Amino acid sequence: AKAPQTAQIQTVLDDAYGKFIQKNPGKNADYIPALAKVDSAYFGLALVTHDGKVYTKGDVDQSFSIQSISKVFTLALAMEEKGSQTILDKVGVNATGLAFNSVTAIEQNPARSVNPLVNAGAMATVSLLDGNDDKTKWSALSGWYNTFANRKLSVLEDVYKSETDTNSHNRAIAELLVSYDRFYGDVDLNLDIYTRQCSVAVTAKDLAVMASVFANNGVHPLTGKRIMSSDNVARVLAVMTTAGLYEDSGQWAYQVGLPAKSGVGGGIIAVSPGQFAVAVFSPRLDAAGNSIRAQQAIDYIAEKLHANIF
Ligand code: GLN
Repeated sequence: AKAPQTAQIQTVLDDAYGKFIQKNPGKNADYIPALAKVDSAYFGLALVTHDGKVYTKGDVDQSFSIQSISKVFTLALAMEEKGSQTILDKVGVNATGLAFNSVTAIEQNPARSVNPLVNAGAMATVSLLDGNDDKTKWSALSGWYNTFANRKLSVLEDVYKSETDTNSHNRAIAELLVSYDRFYGDVDLNLDIYTRQCSVAVTAKDLAVMASVFANNGVHPLTGKRIMSSDNVARVLAVMTTAGLYEDSGQWAYQVGLPAKSGVGGGIIAVSPGQFAVAVFSPRLDAAGNSIRAQQAIDYIAEKLHANIF
């Protein structure tokens, strides 16, 4: 595909904003009480090209919790540390076709294989990371996120506390994995790290910058430094394509054709390899837990920029 031009990209973002700002269907996540309180009017769009040009529209400096979008960056670190074969063997990479917090997904698979972008696989992936104590593990992981964001990110303490106080379901998933020898460390430690990684504060602009590393084959567009191997980038994008929007990933691939990842905080990132990364923030979700306006906006942007990878 021909690379889109500067004026065109800004126009497409402006138009996407204008087209979807009026109607705001869906509802905030509320199983994590702090997320229900986020102003659902926020709408921010950011796009970063493979060569580091940044385009923005709307509420792009508003912080929100990264939630499940964190899973792709944690997966990237685990692949860099342990190799991609370890993820395949110890976590799995097939789509579950089920909800992000599904227990059935584990139960129905004879090998107990899931993927790193649903809660079970994401927590197992955290358990694989180097480091045996909280401090070592968290400083490596948060440092890794900071490298992608090209700045120091913080944790939204209210979200972290809110999810920690209501974390029984994720704890049950982790314990179930332990029972099948598919969890690779202490439950308390790794559940806590996972919960903290989901509470990292990002803006739409941060997310577009972070995802732009995947759009540029593992080299950071803003610093020119290689962050991860291009082989691992390809594998992260593969899992995003098959599982990034959970049970709606097939529909998303069919409709939009970009590897993407959502979070229940209302963010979605999508990557056009070799071209750009886009991130949209809008808190109201559909039944699968994916932001409705973020999906609409990215669908529109991908179509206008002829970005469908298929
Ligand atoms: N922290 C959330 C959870 O574990 C992340 C889920 C999501 O964003 N889909 O339930």
